[in-house]
Amino acid sequence: MTKALQQGATIGILGGGQLGRMLSVAASRLGFKTHIFEPGANPPAGHVADAVTTAPYSDHDALTAFANSVDVITFEFENIPTQALDVLEKLRPVLPARNALATSQDRIVEKEFLSGLGLNVAPFANVETAEDLSTAVATVGTPSILKTRRFGYDGKGQARLKTNDDAQAAWDALGNTPCVLEGFIDFSHEVSVIGARSQSGEVVCYDPGENVHRDGILHTTTLPATLNVSQRMDAVLLTGKVLNALDYVGVMGVELFVTPAGLIVNEIAPRVHNSGHWTQNGCVIDQFEQHIRAVAGWPLGDGTRHSNVVMTNLIGDEVLDVVKLSSDANIGLHLYGKADAKPGRKMGHVNKITGPVN
Ligand code: AMP
Repeated sequence: MTKALQQGATIGILGGGQLGRMLSVAASRLGFKTHIFEPGANPPAGHVADAVTTAPYSDHDALTAFANSVDVITFEFENIPTQALDVLEKLRPVLPARNALATSQDRIVEKEFLSGLGLNVAPFANVETAEDLSTAVATVGTPSILKTRRFGYDGKGQARLKTNDDAQAAWDALGNTPCVLEGFIDFSHEVSVIGARSQSGEVVCYDPGENVHRDGILHTTTLPATLNVSQRMDAVLLTGKVLNALDYVGVMGVELFVTPAGLIVNEIAPRVHNSGHWTQNGCVIDQFEQHIRAVAGWPLGDGTRHSNVVMTNLIGDEVLDVVKLSSDANIGLHLYGKADAKPGRKMGHVNKITGPVN
């Protein structure tokens, strides 16, 4: 275990998007400095950080200088190239650690890990060749979803199979890259748990939120989620199991499908998560501070929810409504400082308090 970081220490963050930005704000509230590493110019996190390195992940000199300038390294996204980790890990602790990244970067590794823990996942089969594709369709059946094993996000890198005849076209559409074929789950709704684990092994989970997607992108997260007492307990306990099995340090998002037969784990994200943004206005300690506490070697905060909340993402030009939204006394506004409100781009979110927890 590393020693707890003191005021003035610097936290390095890989990735300069809105998650890095909100991590940076949380870190500065705790008296830390932040240094963002991001290949793209003018990253949203750079506006609220002490230092920014603009360089590709293949630039070993830039990675080395970045690592030498910080006390600990964390990240806002899971697709960090292995070669970059090789450089960084030699110089500073990278948290959450590599095993969590390796598990979540590849959907097959992830599903094998989760089912090895005794958790329910969708029926699945690996697809790397045309022969694999026919075997997978024969075993998993249809309807099903073909997903690229790596680099999928916000519903990208996925194709649905209504019948067996759709298989080849789906695989071609995804570029014949390694995929997983997943059985289609007839779920009633989707929920997620934001969990955290500290360096001493303490686990704190937030109450599960209920997620609704629009055009493959998260639209709202509503608290409380529609779950009975035992489903809510299952969701939290299975998240703790995942965190402990990975000896994890930091915040993780665990996405679940709710079915009459129980909860099915869709995927895990080894980072702060869009479906955890509600914690900024629904809890005293939000997911961003919780993550910073964990990687800084501090005790975790209390994850108790004090209010019912609906988080709504502001996508594209929905952000133009912000002045109107700001007159609602029950709305917490969170904007990412992005210049272009392109269609499909996450520009900000609002957390509307809908009442006290009863
Ligand atoms: P993912 O990128 O795996 O989070 O998938 C994006 C969305 O597709 C999920 O939030 C679900 O709404 C839907 N989806 C993914 N996998 C399945 C599945 N096996 N069965 C039914 N719907 C799914």
